[in-house]
Amino acid sequence: MELIFASHNPHKLSEVRAILSDLPVVVTDLKEIGADSEVEETGTTFRENARIKAEFFYKKFKKPVFADDSGLIVTALGGEPGVHSARYAGEHGNHYKNNLYLLEKMQGITERDAYFLTVICFFDNTGQAHFFEGRLNGEIAYELKGSGGFGYDPVFYLPEYNSTLAEMGVLKKNQLSHRYLALKEFAKYLKKEVG
Ligand code: IMP
Repeated sequence: MELIFASHNPHKLSEVRAILSDLPVVVTDLKEIGADSEVEETGTTFRENARIKAEFFYKKFKKPVFADDSGLIVTALGGEPGVHSARYAGEHGNHYKNNLYLLEKMQGITERDAYFLTVICFFDNTGQAHFFEGRLNGEIAYELKGSGGFGYDPVFYLPEYNSTLAEMGVLKKNQLSHRYLALKEFAKYLKKEVG
């Protein structure tokens, strides 16, 4: 089965291919398929945004498509930055500024619980939407630590490993991340359908 992954991110594509490697599926991303359209993520939830992306490309290509949407949810900030994770400090994709802004917002707050969430939306060949989720619990650190990973990794602390995600190394991170867990759920579903 051919699956389109509605993403332009080559790192995500290799992660997806590795996790789905023992299934009879061929995964192509937007770059490989030659689609340069950007879809505006106008949803107020990860689920809505994942659906918007998957539906757009399903309608465009009339083939099975999946899309993911992720972000950080901080309990003491009422769920912020949530769907605004990539542009929390105002500039899309400026991870350093986002981290500093987050630490500033957390000043004086001792309740540090947070989690990352990934939602995958899969449009099957009949146009039906299916959702899969992965969650990684942790805490917001008091300062940036580590140089690996991306995004909020330097401020996302895992007490059970006594390290931030950025200190952990990408191989280890990829075995416990929210994205990995959501992809595993998706793989389980695909295995039942096509495996
Ligand atoms: P995306 O939906 O995967 O593009 O993620 C949106 C934003 O959430 C990113 O720009 C990051 O700010 C944040 N984010 C998502 N996943 C991670 C992660 O694994 N580590 C750190 N930040 C992440």
